[in-house]
Amino acid sequence: MKKAYRFGYNLYFKDEAFAENLKFVKKNNDIIDEITLFVEYSHHGYWPLEWQKKSSAVMKDRMEQYRAAGVKSVGVNVLATIGHIDEGFDVLPKPPMQTMVGDDGSVSRSCMCINTEEYLEYITERYKLVARSGPAFIWIDDDFRIPRHGVANPCFCPKCVADFSAEYGRKFDRESLVAAINADEKVKKAFDAFRISKFDFVAGKIEEAIHSVDPSIKTGFMTSPEWSEVEWLNRFKATMGRPGGGFYHDDRPNDVIRKGFDVGKQIALFPEYIEDIQYEFENFPYQEFAKSQTLIKTECALSLMYGCNGVLYNAFIGSYQRLMDTVRSRAAQWDKIVTYSHKGKNKGVYGNQNACLAFGEIGVPLAARAEDACALILCGGNVRAMDDEEILNALKGGVMLDGEAFYELSSRGFACYCGVEIENAYNNGMSERFTDSRFNGQYAGYKRDVYMNFWDCYKDKDVYTYRPQAGCEVISNLENINHEMKGPSCTVYENELGGRVCVMGNFFPEFCKCREKQSQIMNVLDFLAGGMPAKAYGDCRTHLVCRESEENALLCAMNCSMDADVNLYAEIKGDYKKISLIAADGSLCAADAERTANGVKITLKNPAPWDYALVLCEK
Ligand SMILES: [Zn+2]
Repeated sequence: MKKAYRFGYNLYFKDEAFAENLKFVKKNNDIIDEITLFVEYSHHGYWPLEWQKKSSAVMKDRMEQYRAAGVKSVGVNVLATIGHIDEGFDVLPKPPMQTMVGDDGSVSRSCMCINTEEYLEYITERYKLVARSGPAFIWIDDDFRIPRHGVANPCFCPKCVADFSAEYGRKFDRESLVAAINADEKVKKAFDAFRISKFDFVAGKIEEAIHSVDPSIKTGFMTSPEWSEVEWLNRFKATMGRPGGGFYHDDRPNDVIRKGFDVGKQIALFPEYIEDIQYEFENFPYQEFAKSQTLIKTECALSLMYGCNGVLYNAFIGSYQRLMDTVRSRAAQWDKIVTYSHKGKNKGVYGNQNACLAFGEIGVPLAARAEDACALILCGGNVRAMDDEEILNALKGGVMLDGEAFYELSSRGFACYCGVEIENAYNNGMSERFTDSRFNGQYAGYKRDVYMNFWDCYKDKDVYTYRPQAGCEVISNLENINHEMKGPSCTVYENELGGRVCVMGNFFPEFCKCREKQSQIMNVLDFLAGGMPAKAYGDCRTHLVCRESEENALLCAMNCSMDADVNLYAEIKGDYKKISLIAADGSLCAADAERTANGVKITLKNPAPWDYALVLCEK
């Protein structure tokens, strides 16, 4: 695992600060593989070339000193290629060129439109100046993105509107273009493609600028959850990738799961040539106490389990020695994660973001892309975005639907593949009652009342009863809070296409954090998937990551609670001969494992609160 550290401008620019920083680096040299210098110190977009020239000279000197101190790899991170937000605009130089304009006509004070000659000249010259500082690599930050530049949905500046008009063959001004985009999907698609092509072009020019100075400089691109333009990686000739997600403090520790999953999904889009994949550990705006040492360990381990092979620590305002000690304490174990899992794929369910995250807290593992999924989880919005062919394909496999997703499918003629028809819809006073179906086991008869009118999430959402077709199995009924049965509400069905479909027509995917619903969901998923690749459970919330390759599988099971006295149980499907625990020091010891009908069950004794256990399963 590559351990990289990013230092901000104020840590290296002045001699005294740099002397302090160099001392810190020398002290921790054993766990430093790479240093990255932030070129700028604000998210503001415009940095005059004169400023850059001076700054590059200082960076050149600092990088030479790091190398002399034994740091193997030293490079830089251009924080502001366009500008992230409007920041420091009264204090920093005003961009002397067109800035981004929102669809409402608002004008950014910090972020530049990329579609002008002035910008192209400025940005290529600036990247050349950065390249002349002699970095081994240059990161292009995630402000190289279409949305989020301080104004709404840019860019609608006069030049962008005129260029698009010429390309589309119809004369627009800003107002008429916005109206046409809102009214006509064809115009919207054309404008989206126009914007992407401008970014493609600029990415290519930046790459040429960097490599015109030194062809050996590696380039890295920072992606974010909203990114999908793989072509940019190609244009930058990137070999380094940083999937992003924004997790700055552990006020809500389970956000670590969301970021891990978001990161995994971006990595799943990375082409093979992105070989250096660095997770970004952050406590921005550099608050040492924003994250506990325990969660630092868990966050880094999860990032590797979701496909990174390095971590870039962006956490320093001074000498944060405690972070270094934490990294040192798990470095050998993290190396093992990369060794055993980097070639693997995340296995589990995939689909609706909220549903996946809800499942991620009850021990259902998540896949990072649909191709690796054992079952798809679809909610209303997902189905609305799918065409008929995609829907039919989904219904050939294992699918779990919420009430709204089934409503959409039903209105488009797909009810026959799901085993039910809608009978009634309700918006108050309802609860769920488990049937004595095989999917409920010991929890048959369990009543689940989520107090549906208490929560905003059910404000505009109905719960349903259904008429089941022959062969459809009812797993829950809807019952009103006076205990009157209203009819089937959750069902499972195997259709004529060979697909297995579960309709969860009541409170889903929310409020699943009880063992009864967890058990029902896992049993159903086992059926939908023909056996889930893995699962975890115990007396608390659990997150499980399963990363599988041809030779082995690695499981990372997290205790997502404050309790120190809980056991976790992880099950994996497959013929694994050797099951080991990987300790904090990277050593392997035999796990407490027993055979099951289709795999192995492992008992994990008392993982510490918000810590994790690592299990290596070898064939
Ligand atoms: Zn523009």
